[in-house]
Amino acid sequence: MSHDPSETPAEIVTRLRATFDAGRSAPLAWRIAQLRALRTLLTEEGETLAAALREDLGKGREEAYRTEIDFTVREIDHTLEHLADWLRPQPAPVPERLSPAKADTVLDPLGVVLVIAPWNYPVQLLLAPVVGALAAGNCVVAKPSELAPATSRALARLLPLHLDTDAVAVVEGAVPETTALLAQRFDHIFYTGNGTVGRIVLRAAAEYLTPVTLELGGKSPVFVDRGTDLATVAARLVSTKFMNAGQTCVAPDYVLTDPETARALEERLAEAVRERYGDDPATAEDYGRIVNERHFDRLSGLLDSGRTVTGGVGDRERRYLAPTVLAQVEPDAPVMREEIFGPILPLVEVAGLDEAIAFIRDRDKPLALYAFTDSDTTRERLIRETSSGGITFNQPVVHLTVSDLPFGGVGESGMGNYHGRYSLETFSHRKAVLDRRG
Ligand code: NAD
Repeated sequence: MSHDPSETPAEIVTRLRATFDAGRSAPLAWRIAQLRALRTLLTEEGETLAAALREDLGKGREEAYRTEIDFTVREIDHTLEHLADWLRPQPAPVPERLSPAKADTVLDPLGVVLVIAPWNYPVQLLLAPVVGALAAGNCVVAKPSELAPATSRALARLLPLHLDTDAVAVVEGAVPETTALLAQRFDHIFYTGNGTVGRIVLRAAAEYLTPVTLELGGKSPVFVDRGTDLATVAARLVSTKFMNAGQTCVAPDYVLTDPETARALEERLAEAVRERYGDDPATAEDYGRIVNERHFDRLSGLLDSGRTVTGGVGDRERRYLAPTVLAQVEPDAPVMREEIFGPILPLVEVAGLDEAIAFIRDRDKPLALYAFTDSDTTRERLIRETSSGGITFNQPVVHLTVSDLPFGGVGESGMGNYHGRYSLETFSHRKAVLDRRG
């Protein structure tokens, strides 16, 4: 058990706060020991977690390691390598009128933080924020998603075996349990999931003026410029869109391109799907499943939104939905009205870059914006004229594997960011220190 089941959320927070107040989580040595212990958990129990991920999401073993287990290990290694350096006070220049004086900023741990994770990358999205929270010297309540129950159970069992149980608690559960947690006073809440619940979290946090990070989703567009090598475009779109059966917050949601490029890209995409998953993706070892029937039904309802280039078929019982490409999709088609979060890739035609930029600006600010282009002008214009959590050229999704880049959204795609040193900033207070001498 992750904690005594009779312990209420209030009691858990009180117990963790006592640990924090006693100063136990502050020393660098404690933080390093916790990160190392988490690393040991991931390496020793990798197979347990991979099996849980297969049970919950049909995730292939290779993908489970690459996108969840090894991903988190890399985040830990990066943090261990740089933590002492990141924690060094940062000097600030002092104006002449105050001298002699010394000014700098130091990172203070916040206290007891709450991490709420979703089901789609249920290991990575619970543990990567926990890495930041522990590195910053906090105590943590971690709430995995009930929609990935095998992974939730595995994490609730394993974390207490490896980490300091007076400082880290796992609380499993769904809406009632999360609601009870949100009624407590935390010093930071880190939520990953959808915007509707994001608003609930923000409202609950307002009660105590608790700072919040919201890692949300939305539709991440891909602009494909005229004259780009379409074989490369197709291979990279297929490998990132259909990973985890499209249930990735930064998955390319839809493609914007001119009609001629769209026609040529269609065929390339169908080929790339065959190459990646074979003639029958239902039998592919590394092609995932839709998380539950509700999402399967929602996605099935989006399949009529355009001309089917490839896929379009599924099996509700096995929650299998084929990698699907839809062509000539109208901007107001059902598939364009919500985040797809499944293996359906619509191609939407625009006249060119101007129209693509207008299209993007007309809609919610995306978590990620992607473009395939060889043109510096296109690159510059997209960076300058659009707003998104991040922008990545010529290869979707990989930006979040760069630990030195902040990962997070803007507007409807979220607030705040994390990864690497940005996690440390998120889970700390940067305190100003001014020492006037003389
Ligand atoms: P989900 O249903 O697992 O919900 C996420 C968490 O919120 C769970 O722990 C759940 O228990 C909790 N929750 C649900 N309803 C609640 C309520 N009423 N009150 C309090 N807590 C509640 O996951 P989801 O929201 O379906 O996840 C998918 C969404 O998350 C997509 O929009 C996706 O783009 C986004 N996402 C974003 C990121 C990112 O890093 N920005 C990563 C993954 C997913």
